[in-house]
Amino acid sequence: MRINVLTLFPEMFTPIQTSILGRGLEDKKWELNIVNFREFSERKHHSVDDTPYGGGAGMVLQLMPIKAALDSLPSKGKVIITAPQGKTFNQQMAQEWAQEEELTFICGHFEGFDQRVYDYVDEAVSIGDYVLTGGELPTMSMIDATIRLMPGILGNDFSSVEESFSHGLLEYPQYTRPAEFEGKKVPEILTSGNHQKIAEWRLKEALRATYLHRPDLLAGRDMTKQEQKLLEEIKDEEQTN
Ligand code: SAH
Repeated sequence: MRINVLTLFPEMFTPIQTSILGRGLEDKKWELNIVNFREFSERKHHSVDDTPYGGGAGMVLQLMPIKAALDSLPSKGKVIITAPQGKTFNQQMAQEWAQEEELTFICGHFEGFDQRVYDYVDEAVSIGDYVLTGGELPTMSMIDATIRLMPGILGNDFSSVEESFSHGLLEYPQYTRPAEFEGKKVPEILTSGNHQKIAEWRLKEALRATYLHRPDLLAGRDMTKQEQKLLEEIKDEEQTN
């Protein structure tokens, strides 16, 4: 996949060129093309912002440098703009985007964009109900969540299949050596070698984690008979605890 990023701060993008994603770049599993749209400003000192029409605090990003930077790309794929007003990003969107051949992200700064920029993008996306100083961290979060779902990026392709949100549930608890630490023991079933029992325990604990921490995810879920039975058990257990 090829990812284009339009930003005023290209130097911020080291985190997604490190570790697992960095290895993916080296292996040419994906490509990162960072464009500083300040270079497309035709104004003195290459400024890209101006005061808002109608008055008020802060500076607004001008449309022209962003449009010129977009036009300079040989191809764009889906164009995503980072904005608090956008649709909230989630795992399902990451899964869909991971199938694309190219994506282009636009990072805002200051008070945000001239409204007319939205006419040149496919989607406005937010990473949550809070305001950051710029679109760089949101863009990096979305690129990370998307790229790690591509084949060959994680060491084991199955690591992303069972994790939180991929089945509409949070992930079950995980343990590794030692089997006991300061009196805290790993659940016995995990060391039993009984794969069917382990699978059932994991499903139950994924349901429990979701019931306790994100009950909203269960509300719209089409539950199997087994899940319904496990959930009833969980509710009883949690009441007596
Ligand atoms: N004045 C704007 C906020 C501007 S913040 C408002 O009230 O909506 C500056 C830039 O940071 C935005 O243009 C956007 O690109 C980015 N940004 C800030 N918070 C964000 C969030 N939660 N999700 C995605 N992008 C965000």
